[in-house]
Amino acid sequence: MKIIMLGAPGAGKGTQAKMIAEKFGIPHISTGDIFRANIKNGTELGAKAKEYMDQGLLVPDELTCDLVVDRIQQEDCKKGYILDGFPRTIPQAEALDAALTKLGENIDFAINVEVPDENIVRRMGGRRACVSCGATYHVVYNAPAKENVCDACGAELILRDDDKPETVQKRLSVYHEQTQPLIDYYTKKGVIAEVDGTIDMQDVFAAICKILGE
Ligand code: ADP
Ligand code: ADP
Ligand code: ZN
Repeated sequence: MKIIMLGAPGAGKGTQAKMIAEKFGIPHISTGDIFRANIKNGTELGAKAKEYMDQGLLVPDELTCDLVVDRIQQEDCKKGYILDGFPRTIPQAEALDAALTKLGENIDFAINVEVPDENIVRRMGGRRACVSCGATYHVVYNAPAKENVCDACGAELILRDDDKPETVQKRLSVYHEQTQPLIDYYTKKGVIAEVDGTIDMQDVFAAICKILGE
């Protein structure tokens, strides 16, 4: 099963993608996580990506597409995968399509998690990310057992630099300009499914499982 998660920054793509990946035993591929791991490891890609991420801008397609096209051809992707945060532009979607066509494969579902902008700003201020394993929490909606400590690995939880309100506004406008057109793109391909992302995360998950036929 090959799934794409669409939605604004903070819509809950990562939260849902992790649950789906676990349930179906397929890899969760998050380009944001890949870039953050590169930043942490001090790679050249990380340094380049950081310049854009800090400003709330998208990392250029040239730095993003090959990375994903390579990743989906690895052994663990044979049974499927869930793409979280990719594609984010029409050229990225076209690059993915070209790669899939070559492989004789196709996307089964593009799930659009819908959350209005005003909810997003509130959510992002409360998001906390683990500095070590990348797990995400919310101070109100998904609080860790102990404040600022990761339940999964015990490392520290932080507010991402790009989750500060000024940057969130920029990311939202980038989303509307560059990423939202993908909803039309995948609607035309007949694979779009919409879920209300404003309800409780377990209820969002139940709605997605229904779409996936489980
Ligand atoms: P969110 O969880 O808010 O949706 P991500 O963790 O997916 O954010 O991405 C964080 C940042 O990484 C983005 O704001 C962008 O700068 C960069 N990024 C992630 N995925 C992509 C992509 N597919 N294309 C370009 N930039 C990306
Ligand atoms: P994205 O990957 O789309 O940027 P996340 O999955 O990281 O979004 O979620 C953004 C923030 O909102 C996190 O702090 C997360 O715990 C919280 N969150 C996710 N889904 C819900 C939900 N249905 N209701 C309330 N908060 C949520
Ligand atoms: Zn952790």
